[in-house]
Amino acid sequence: MTLIRHTFDAGFLVPLQTLVQNATTMKYSAIFIDFDDTLIDTIQDTQNTVEAIYTDHRLDSFFDSFEDYYENFFRPNTIAIWHLYEQGLITRDELLGQRFRNTFKHLPEIEAESIEKINKDYLARIVKATTLLPEAKDLLDYLKGKYPLYMVSNGFANMQYTKIETAGLEGYFDGVVLSDEVGISKPDRRIYEAALAMAGVPADKAIMIGDNYKTDITGAHNAGIDQIWFNPRKIEASAFEPTYMVDSLAAIQHIL
Ligand SMILES: [Mg+2]
Repeated sequence: MTLIRHTFDAGFLVPLQTLVQNATTMKYSAIFIDFDDTLIDTIQDTQNTVEAIYTDHRLDSFFDSFEDYYENFFRPNTIAIWHLYEQGLITRDELLGQRFRNTFKHLPEIEAESIEKINKDYLARIVKATTLLPEAKDLLDYLKGKYPLYMVSNGFANMQYTKIETAGLEGYFDGVVLSDEVGISKPDRRIYEAALAMAGVPADKAIMIGDNYKTDITGAHNAGIDQIWFNPRKIEASAFEPTYMVDSLAAIQHIL
């Protein structure tokens, strides 16, 4: 782990009384936050990267259009392999290997070597595609110093740390909990238990912020952790109502 550990430098400037008041009035003593599609626009970044790969590797000779390629082949396969990974049915390396192998499996004319080349190019580009969502930086600036902040992500170590750096977010997190390092993915409660252990707080003193109802919200809920569902598309909650729901990151500042 290469992240800079948080030092409580602001503490010297804050009168002790304020700190004591905060300690007694603040409900939460640690914030957990998802990364992809909560802080950075992974859906759009992925689509842009996949389109650049499509153009540069001349995939247009195999598909009707980019939309056909993306909607009917790349995206359904990506969703399927991530689902398998989140259930612990495939490993990280299998996921990385299957992304394009499966996408092109109906095209025997694309050789394994070319697929490998495309995959490598994709991985090199995707870690540099880290468009911050509107208000993400403002939210992190607001939370930093007020709470210890932990990223809880199903991303892969070698990619997520590069993405954090590319996005300019290294200074914000007291710790990073990755499925890849813990060996368990969200929504499994054990990744949340690992986050609680890292933060050194009980479940009722932590809150999880994330965009994904299943992995972030249900996972935290099952671990006894309150949740803020960042739900800009206003999807209906299916099983239970999250502790809080917001349609903008800015709204979180009214909760925490
Ligand atoms: Mg997410």
